[in-house]
Amino acid sequence: TRHRQYQVRDLLTQLELEKDHLEERVKDRTRELNRSVRFLEQFTYSMAHDLRAPLRAIRSYTGLLSEDYAQLLDEQGRRMIGKVESAAGRLDSLINDLLSLARLSNLEVPLLPISVDSVVDGVVYALDEEIRRTDAVVEKQRCNLKAFGNPVILKQVLENFLANAIKYSEPRGRPEVRIWAEMHEGRVRVCVSDRGIGIAPEFLQKIFQPFQRLHGHEIPGSGIGLAIAAQGAERMGGSIGVSSQLGEGSTFWIDLNSSVNLPAHVEAASVA
Ligand code: ADP
Repeated sequence: TRHRQYQVRDLLTQLELEKDHLEERVKDRTRELNRSVRFLEQFTYSMAHDLRAPLRAIRSYTGLLSEDYAQLLDEQGRRMIGKVESAAGRLDSLINDLLSLARLSNLEVPLLPISVDSVVDGVVYALDEEIRRTDAVVEKQRCNLKAFGNPVILKQVLENFLANAIKYSEPRGRPEVRIWAEMHEGRVRVCVSDRGIGIAPEFLQKIFQPFQRLHGHEIPGSGIGLAIAAQGAERMGGSIGVSSQLGEGSTFWIDLNSSVNLPAHVEAASVA
């Protein structure tokens, strides 16, 4: 029996050592992984940044060509210049989106209690032109809820949801969008729903990854908006999600901590 006891004791010591060793290895790997992620983020940022200068030159020279030399070109030549201009425009917005994505991961994000209603007002105001152009019906429901987050990032996330709701409703006619917020499992959930083209179930998770688009150039976009929204939500300690029925419409939401348990002296921030 004594011999057995010694054996068990040795085994336990051995197990403890193995556990320590494993924990050290996990820490090392995590450090390595964080280093690679930081490197990739910085690489994306500087690449996107450096692509801007030559693109600016391409855009300004094609602009000059189509303004000052259009009469020297035939119809086909002018059409070609037009195509170069629109491709350069798409590349420009892609680079801007990439820069926003990279900036978001490097940025310090101060969190504070925010009034969801005032952020929603700011979002609808910012997209006023698009709403008018498409004759969209946007229904906002007051919620009087306070979330704990960053007003600028929340506004950016909801702007992306609302712009998409309008954009992906247009092929089906007049966009009808509803924005509301509710408490969901102790957190504040802000939802944007539309009656647009919807998304097939097999693509529901894919669309949150950068550059994943379900459409060609017939619907403009870079495929980065939702990746930025997901990154933004994560930086605020929240998350985003979607439910959708193909051909029926979609509901996108962001979940944030509620600021109910925060000290009362902290004032709710509003978005200009
Ligand atoms: P994009 O610039 O292409 O709109 P996003 O990252 O914002 O990029 O969205 C990724 C893809 O998710 C879109 O290309 C589209 O296929 C799909 N999507 C996003 N919002 C909606 C919506 N409200 N209804 C239908 N599809 C949507």
